[in-house]
Amino acid sequence: MTIFEKIINGDIPSTKIYEDDSVIAILDIAPRAKGHTLVISKKVYPAIGDAPVELLSHMMEIVKKVDMKMRDALKADGTNVIINNSPASGQEVPHLHIHVIPRFNGDGISFFPPATSYADGEAKEYGDKLRI
Ligand code: 5GP
Repeated sequence: MTIFEKIINGDIPSTKIYEDDSVIAILDIAPRAKGHTLVISKKVYPAIGDAPVELLSHMMEIVKKVDMKMRDALKADGTNVIINNSPASGQEVPHLHIHVIPRFNGDGISFFPPATSYADGEAKEYGDKLRI
């Protein structure tokens, strides 16, 4: 059982800011900025590819509400919306969730990995491999 299932079941306390039949939103216990929220699927899907698109769409609807609330109630200037998708990406809890982190102009936080670059012709190769 994942830690988020225990939270959903009420076995572990959390600060809940939203709940419906398929999703909860709680404050992260180790916030990267105060108000850092996790929008969590109630049903366990380890990664995006495992989850139905209707659920993903609904989760984004809640992310939008959280983002708008952060701008209103916390006067956030922006948010980072992040999914760590499988352990290789840094995902610690194998249970689909979306981080929404309030950001403020000049707060100096950086979440993005440093930039790399393509060799000649390599962008085309990657484009060809990834075209959907
Ligand atoms: P991940 O690395 O899987 O994308 O993120 C997992 C997040 O869950 C981390 O930011 C971590 O702080 C948070 N977290 C882990 N355990 C708990 C907990 O018991 N309660 C709450 N509210 N958040 C947790």
